[in-house]
Amino acid sequence: QKKYLMIPGPTPIPPEVTLAMSRPMIGHRSGDFAKLHERVVAKLKQVFKTQNDIFILTNSGTGGMEMAVANVVNPGDEVLALSTGNFGERFAKIAKEYGAKVDMVDFGWGNAVDLAVVEEKLRQNPNYKAVLATHNETSTGVKNDIAGIAALTKNHRAVLIVDAVSSLGGMEFDTDGWGVDVVVTGSQKALMLPPGLAFISFSQKALEAAQDNKNPKFYFSLPAAKKALAEWNTAYTPAVSLFFGLEAALDLILEEGLDKVIKRHKLLAKACREGVKALGLKLFPAEENASDTVTAVAGDDRYDPEQLRKVLRTKYGVTFAGGQKDLKGKIFRIGHMGYVDKLDIIVAIGALEMALKEIGYPVELGAGVKKAMEVITGGE
Ligand code: PMP
Repeated sequence: QKKYLMIPGPTPIPPEVTLAMSRPMIGHRSGDFAKLHERVVAKLKQVFKTQNDIFILTNSGTGGMEMAVANVVNPGDEVLALSTGNFGERFAKIAKEYGAKVDMVDFGWGNAVDLAVVEEKLRQNPNYKAVLATHNETSTGVKNDIAGIAALTKNHRAVLIVDAVSSLGGMEFDTDGWGVDVVVTGSQKALMLPPGLAFISFSQKALEAAQDNKNPKFYFSLPAAKKALAEWNTAYTPAVSLFFGLEAALDLILEEGLDKVIKRHKLLAKACREGVKALGLKLFPAEENASDTVTAVAGDDRYDPEQLRKVLRTKYGVTFAGGQKDLKGKIFRIGHMGYVDKLDIIVAIGALEMALKEIGYPVELGAGVKKAMEVITGGE
């Protein structure tokens, strides 16, 4: 059976990337690796839209989140955590682990960050050392207005730390233009790589905030990473093969053109949402907050999302993601980021229709696919 991985990470890998990763090993302190590192950092800066230093870590995205917090926040510091779901909660938990006094605002799973609340919080407390925000809340399919949050932190002491793990390379993100201090992302989502690398940029404001840092840290030490970057490349042995793949993936993004990549994600997300709605299903978040990389669909009393996912997987080879934590069994999520194109959406919606019919949900076969096709053909 042919398999279709349609979850919000890890995502499918383009053949050019797979091929690049099979190259013979090279030493990580060789001149060849130093040059490769320099090239991929320069290309990453184009995708991050930043002049800031970018550090490449051999670990998953959560390690990047931990590095950001560990280096910027001191024990006892006040931190404002803006949570819209599982990954917002994780960010707050990391800061708590590092001894910060965390003021977590929970906007509710399915909702976006309300800028008026952030503005008021920052006005009330000039002492926040950092603001933690999630660009794209993968657990709920909600995107947050990072440009808006950055406009508020710009004139505040707080360092804005953003989790862009499931958005960077798939949704508009302008690190320097918006003024985001620390940006964290991972390899296994829109960047079209296997899991295993995290990328993190620090602005001047963030570097200054990190100067008096007192947290115990070793692998995640920013001073060690900075020293290594100045002298050679990464502080410890990097996942060399993933770096080969990284250059191939970044080349694909830059050859297509970052703007076009972002537009493609926007169009495919719209096609996915319209297809879903045409079947009578309800999107989980309000549509104006809906993500361009993952579509979350609400369960209802006419079907069980878990039964649906099982039929999709076993009968059609299609894997969608379920809900996380309290949303388990209540929603399902379709990932459409990275190496994804028009016909992937047709596959997703087509399979969805057939599986819905099979579990007894009232569906007119072709209604969703028709709508998705209309969006795709009309969007060019
Ligand atoms: N933040 C977001 C928004 C994510 O989607 C994920 C991964 N699903 C993470 C953080 C954590 O990344 P990782 O699983 O690579 O540690």
